Amino acid sequence: MARFRTLDDLGDLTGNVALVRVDLNLPMQDGSVTDDTRVRAAAPTILELAAKGAKVLLLAHFGRPKGERVSTMSVSMTIDAVQAVLGKEVMFVPEIAGPVVAQSVGILRPGDIALLENTRFWKGEEKNDPELAKAIAANGDIYVNDAFSAAHRAHASTEGLAHLLPAYAGRSMEAELKALDAALGTPERPVAAVVGGAKVSSKLDVLTHLVTQVDHLIIGGGMANTFLAARGVNVGKSLCEYELAPTCEQILDAADKSGCSVHLPYDVVVAKEFAANPASVRTCNVHEVAADEMILDVGPQAVEALADVLKTCRTLVWNGPLGAFEIEPFDTATVALARSAAALSKEGVLTSVAGGGDTVAALNHAGVADDFTYISTAGGAFLEWMEGKELPGVKALEIA
Ligand code: ADP
Ligand code: MG
Repeated sequence: MARFRTLDDLGDLTGNVALVRVDLNLPMQDGSVTDDTRVRAAAPTILELAAKGAKVLLLAHFGRPKGERVSTMSVSMTIDAVQAVLGKEVMFVPEIAGPVVAQSVGILRPGDIALLENTRFWKGEEKNDPELAKAIAANGDIYVNDAFSAAHRAHASTEGLAHLLPAYAGRSMEAELKALDAALGTPERPVAAVVGGAKVSSKLDVLTHLVTQVDHLIIGGGMANTFLAARGVNVGKSLCEYELAPTCEQILDAADKSGCSVHLPYDVVVAKEFAANPASVRTCNVHEVAADEMILDVGPQAVEALADVLKTCRTLVWNGPLGAFEIEPFDTATVALARSAAALSKEGVLTSVAGGGDTVAALNHAGVADDFTYISTAGGAFLEWMEGKELPGVKALEIA
């Protein structure tokens, strides 16, 4: 694993200003925050820096204002949630650089925290403009990046700043990097990957990369339909990307060459309509799907076999639900396999790392989120990492 400076490398910070990139892109409804997970993830870093005596300036983006000041996208909308989680007062500063920030720094006492405006109000942010990065850096002494979820973007606040100030990985960034390294960097073998979700097209690069990295690739969800169809199985009205058959063949060939076993379901749960507990729901062999039926979940026999595969593995990386888990009973396979993985993780025989918006929701629904070794809430950055890509925000933190 590449080396990073962490907060362990910092002593007393009294008299210093820490510019801290965090993820405050919080889900909102009617002006209030509906989920403060991201704030809770950043809190240890913020509070630790404050406890070391730093004046802490938080940098974050919020929505997609595209380089304009958009009042409904002011990051100040999150300040109540931030204060509630931190249990401290936070000053809001409607700028990210320049004299207004400098004056605010003058008012702050050691250990105080300020939230700077949405970085994406400035065009230079997403362009990674060195001038903007310099202007932001001018008000700080150190830079801490605690937003792994934004690390796949080379922006001024996620990448540029790391080159201008002594740069450190925050606690949540550090935990994420350690977990990801344990899952795919230097994992204990055998390694299994579960890739599910709706479409093969959205995860082509993930599949292509994983077959060269893992010992078992378990394909579920809508994308299993595309693979089954590519193998000549009639999938009826299932969600299926028929045009990707040649791509699926290539992925299967690549898996073969690198000794990766690919697991496709051999029994499935089908229904004639996409609704909760429809009368038409039934379980059948993949070769028995009728023309008017849709595959909406992996079947119980396949799940049992997959649980047996996990028992032989030491590491699991999971992205994408095995079925249309939002609607009962099509959550069954996802819940069952998640519980098997959770039990093995709890026993200490499996290192399990999962990520993806719907995946996290599915694992929460299964009630196993706490038993997995690590759950990444990073979305796009997690997927890019699963694709084997170098993340610029992470790269910039590495010690040469
Ligand atoms: P993540 O957000 O974790 O990366 P995806 O967005 O790729 O996951 O996939 C989640 C979606 O895939 C869910 O909305 C789920 O309903 C859908 N899905 C899973 N299996 C099927 C299926 N067999 N048919 C249709 N949709 C499915
Ligand atoms: Mg999704």
